[in-house]
Amino acid sequence: MVNFSFSDEQEYFRAMLREFSQSELLPHYTKWDRENTHPRHLWKKLGELGVNGLRIPEAFGGSGAECVTTGIAAEEIGRGDFNLTYGVMLNALISEILTNHATDQLKRTWLPEIANGNKIMGIAITEPAAGTDAAGIRSTAVHKGDKYILNGEKSGISVATIGDAFIVFAKTDLNSGSKGISAFVVPADLPGVECKGYEDMGNVPIGRGSIYLTDVEVPEENLIGLENNGFFQVMNGFDLSRLLIGLQCAGAAFQSLDETIEHVKTRHAFGKPLAKNQGVSFPIVTHYTQLELIKWQAYRGLWLRDKNKKHSKEASSVKWLGPKYAQEAIHECMLLNGHYAYTKEMPLEQRLRDVIGLEIGDGTAQANQMVIARELIGKEFKPY
Ligand SMILES: Cc1cc2nc3c(=O)[nH]c(=O)nc-3n(C[C@H](O)[C@H](O)[C@H](O)COP(=O)(O)OP(=O)(O)OC[C@H]3O[C@@H](n4cnc5c(N)ncnc54)[C@H](O)[C@@H]3O)c2cc1C
Repeated sequence: MVNFSFSDEQEYFRAMLREFSQSELLPHYTKWDRENTHPRHLWKKLGELGVNGLRIPEAFGGSGAECVTTGIAAEEIGRGDFNLTYGVMLNALISEILTNHATDQLKRTWLPEIANGNKIMGIAITEPAAGTDAAGIRSTAVHKGDKYILNGEKSGISVATIGDAFIVFAKTDLNSGSKGISAFVVPADLPGVECKGYEDMGNVPIGRGSIYLTDVEVPEENLIGLENNGFFQVMNGFDLSRLLIGLQCAGAAFQSLDETIEHVKTRHAFGKPLAKNQGVSFPIVTHYTQLELIKWQAYRGLWLRDKNKKHSKEASSVKWLGPKYAQEAIHECMLLNGHYAYTKEMPLEQRLRDVIGLEIGDGTAQANQMVIARELIGKEFKPY
């Protein structure tokens, strides 16, 4: 049996978030970018609405909702404020990693605070010399007594300047590649942790930056799961974040299309509405169609995850083409709105800048094509 419908509860959740996103997020979306500030109160508001704790079990302050429901949140928040979708995606990714692998003590300390929006946690894998090749990281964690001593540099990390803690990946065995990496919860206020922000093209309120670790003493209880297992613990989480990213981007692009459809129906040129020209309507149709394909592939991937079925190639297809199709759609919307859309009076130029960031973050097009090729053609044909 195939059933493409959402439950009544999910439809209600979508309608509630649509209303919130349109009335409370959209009118201020550009403000945080222009002022270079992070709206922490809105992150908390997402906590009140139950968005931050969707993938957190009820016992730890969340709702234990399905991945499909989390996708609805990513799409709807993406319509109002693309940058706040980091609250959906990062929280879902991090909550799953902690729920599945951390000690009860770590879960009790962090999960309720993530769910209510009081604390923001980031995930720090990338380094100056290791991005796509994540197993090539050089940060180290040395077990000494009841602590691990962390040293290294993390780069490109979302929420670097606003995060309260980070899941940091470091080598615990220098000679074992991906099998020598461990993950730790590192509070941002530990001595030896220094975070510096970037001047990014987009995603400005998210405070991306570098994290410098100098002889940071991390209690051994902060190790997540087993030593040397960190890489494999997070790789599974990426299948979730990649599907959510596709929906975040689709949400921002669908909103742009809706705004543009209104514009081309009311704006006249050569004595008729712009929409009467197929040179105007067909690009809109093309982008709408591409985004619908992404949306349904994303929900299918999330459904597969909810059913504990394989979904890596679905997730990678959505991560590869979702941000790409979304930025192409938003770009076209900008052009169809004419010169005003090139000003900062309108949100389109910002949406374009914001969405492009996630063509890189969480894996580039090529990184995701490698995942699909591995599954489609076979591991024995990996290039490395
Ligand atoms: C908005 C944003 C948010 C981010 N947030 C985080 C975060 O929260 N945490 C975190 O750890 N990191 C984060 N990152 C970093 C991101 O994960 C990396 O930038 C990404 O994995 C690519 O790594 P790199 O920049 O080092 O590029 P490189 O790995 O140097 O790649 C450069 C180019 O070469 C291509 N390439 C590399 N290897 C191959 C290959 N084998 N075959 C074909 N092409 C290849 C890549 O696709 C890319 O186009 C973020 C980045 C951005 C832009």
